[in-house]
Amino acid sequence: MTHPAPVELTEAEEAFRVEARAWLAEHRPGRLPSMDTPDGAAAHRAWERTLAEARWSVVAWPEEYGGRDASLTEWVLFEEEYYRSGAPTRIAQNGITLLSPLLFSHGTPEQQARYLPPMTDGTEVWAQAWSEPEAGSDLAGIRSRAERDDERGGWVLTGQKTWSSRAPFADRGFGLFRSDPDAERHRGLTYFLFPLDAEGVTVRPIAQLDGDSGFAEIFFTDVFVPDSDVLGGVGDGWRVAMSTAGNERGLSLRAPGRFLAAADRLLGLWGERGADAPHLRDRVVDAWIGAQAYRLYTWATVDRLQDGGDLGADGSVNKLFWSELDVDLHETALELLGPDQELRGDGASGAWADDYLFSLGGPIYAGTNQIQRNIVAERLLGLPRGDRRAGA
Ligand SMILES: Cc1cc2nc3c(=O)[nH]c(=O)nc-3n(C[C@H](O)[C@H](O)[C@H](O)COP(=O)(O)OP(=O)(O)OC[C@H]3O[C@@H](n4cnc5c(N)ncnc54)[C@H](O)[C@@H]3O)c2cc1C
Repeated sequence: MTHPAPVELTEAEEAFRVEARAWLAEHRPGRLPSMDTPDGAAAHRAWERTLAEARWSVVAWPEEYGGRDASLTEWVLFEEEYYRSGAPTRIAQNGITLLSPLLFSHGTPEQQARYLPPMTDGTEVWAQAWSEPEAGSDLAGIRSRAERDDERGGWVLTGQKTWSSRAPFADRGFGLFRSDPDAERHRGLTYFLFPLDAEGVTVRPIAQLDGDSGFAEIFFTDVFVPDSDVLGGVGDGWRVAMSTAGNERGLSLRAPGRFLAAADRLLGLWGERGADAPHLRDRVVDAWIGAQAYRLYTWATVDRLQDGGDLGADGSVNKLFWSELDVDLHETALELLGPDQELRGDGASGAWADDYLFSLGGPIYAGTNQIQRNIVAERLLGLPRGDRRAGA
């Protein structure tokens, strides 16, 4: 289904959209095997290469790094076209959406030249190593340590990370380590880049709900990282990290294209199966309206950002909305499928079951929805800060 843009497009923006649509129609692959399997990871890397060769991998980046210098409007248009075409979720997304903004804003020219190009074509896939067994919602509770090694000109990392998406198949990781145990919780952290095959790194896969190993624990035993792989200043890791967290909850990770495409597929399913389940009609309509509402809200945000505004705590509103919409939409699809929902693998019903399992992680990753509700209550609604004591 085509959704006309809810804003007036310039001729150049319209041409950009038409070009993207035509290219995607010709090149997008069929449904790839899960990227959380060896075969799937290889197939997804090949797709990244195809995107990069045609300069559709990182449209908003500068041309010198393989991008098209696309504006925010063009980027959102591209995302809509991308998912509308049925193209797969990107294996490169940790690097492209989470790390690259930090490399552009905090990285040295050497780091940019070394890390950006291989990120664009799937040569180097990145894993985010933030969470720890005792530091998820309370991220500042990070205990993994970085100790100074003056002799070798770098740092020695020790500790454990967990729930690191794509780590079983990734090449490199980025994450926060406590470099000053005496500093105040948010201050003594430093942001490091490291190879996942470095001496002393052990990646232990964790099976997900669907049985594939989509994430992993990462153990660090005296892992040496040179000074050149510190991103931003020593002790400045929290500020560096937070400059991407809002992005992840808000625009970058979940542009509305994916939900629009899923809502359109749901309408298609309703067309095939709705006669047998009239009681689901309102839920199908609600899901479709939800996807449209999210799209309009995003376009309003784009407008504000282009006028010099910032995302701020609004990212938490986005996050609550897209993650809950995604679960509702997929639950409705499974009810429409009835007993066929049990089917996995290739074919329409298999895709719904896989996507439903993935949607269940939405209210948890990128900061749990309980935490996002706290942020909305305190920072947007101005409500008093709640009691944080356990059990209170
Ligand atoms: C699919 C998926 C992919 C992920 N990928 C990554 C990744 O690539 N890299 C990475 O570093 N991490 C990743 N994570 C981890 C994710 O960021 C954490 O699971 C999340 O931050 C929650 O932390 P936690 O699991 O330690 O839960 P906890 O922080 O222990 O929370 C447990 C429960 O208590 C609630 N809670 C805690 N504190 C409060 C409070 N103050 N007020 C109200 N409720 C509260 C939480 O909302 C939650 O419901 C991923 C998680 C999932 C599910």
